[in-house]
Amino acid sequence: MTYYDDIALPKKYLIKHNFCLHLHDVILSVFFECMEDETLKGIEIREENIKDLEVFSEDSNTDLIKWLYNNAYENEANILLKRRIFHAMLADFLSYVLEALKAAEKGKTAIAYTLLRKPFKDNLLYFEWLLIRGNELLSYVDNGEIENYEVGSVRRKQRAKMKLILSKSMERNPFLDLFEPVDKDFMYNLRYNYNSPYSLELMWNNANHLVTTAKPIRTKDFNNVFLTEEDFDNHLDYFYSKLPFLLLYSMGVILNLYEMLFEKISDESKFYNNILIKSKWISILDQDKGKELLVGILKKLDALPIYCEGCGELTEISEKDLDRVLFSWFVDCQKCNEPIPISRYFFL
Ligand SMILES: [Zn+2]
Repeated sequence: MTYYDDIALPKKYLIKHNFCLHLHDVILSVFFECMEDETLKGIEIREENIKDLEVFSEDSNTDLIKWLYNNAYENEANILLKRRIFHAMLADFLSYVLEALKAAEKGKTAIAYTLLRKPFKDNLLYFEWLLIRGNELLSYVDNGEIENYEVGSVRRKQRAKMKLILSKSMERNPFLDLFEPVDKDFMYNLRYNYNSPYSLELMWNNANHLVTTAKPIRTKDFNNVFLTEEDFDNHLDYFYSKLPFLLLYSMGVILNLYEMLFEKISDESKFYNNILIKSKWISILDQDKGKELLVGILKKLDALPIYCEGCGELTEISEKDLDRVLFSWFVDCQKCNEPIPISRYFFL
């Protein structure tokens, strides 16, 4: 299944492409989980000064965050601000990623690369920063010190700190065991280092400029306008060799932030979701291994239950759903036969 009929994406990329769309939808479901009644979830405030809170609730014109800061609820104010930043940036991140995938599907690789630059160079760095040194980022934002948190100048003037944030964030990633062994500067090299042979910077610059003069990316004539079939293939290969990994890593960062800013995710939920994510991830590398892994898990567990919102019954994922679980976004309900979406994070 694809978004367009006129797709130009060669079949060999479809499994990775669909996995990326799956992760997009899973992250989107985490975005919605942050909300209650269409606004961000509330926060419990320490009750040591009930009188203050009563004064606040009588005056509906007061800015909540300002009030919290002025009344010694700094911790609560910080969490609320971080939630707002996280949530707004996540919406932006998801829009760019989805449009990049749609562009890739139509074979528009230069546009796809251009669209990936912002979410993975900018938004993701702020997620990582919020996770590792959130209060520092907030104070820069609060004091309007934009030169201290603009990505380009952070890369130039605070490189050691940037590398530290990226490597710490990698160490804490819940999917770390699924990634190839990565050295501690891997994320920095991939996203910010022109001189690294596997850097996305090379593609981003070629995609964004017709002419580039810096040594590693010096233009021959014009970038990306006279593409041969081979160039096109190389671009897609590179795109799908990096994007599934980057999205899975981002999802790990986002889940860590969700736990830090909203609530702990139960071990039961993590276990359940990891079965789906892990077997899909293994399948994009080796389909047989993915199937083997999932069959093994299903056998061990007896059944993998899933709730069907269509008929309101508890049904289960079984071996006959193997291909659906690994390569699509739905399984069929065994009670009513309607499709049950699996491209979401299950909060059990
Ligand atoms: Zn059903």
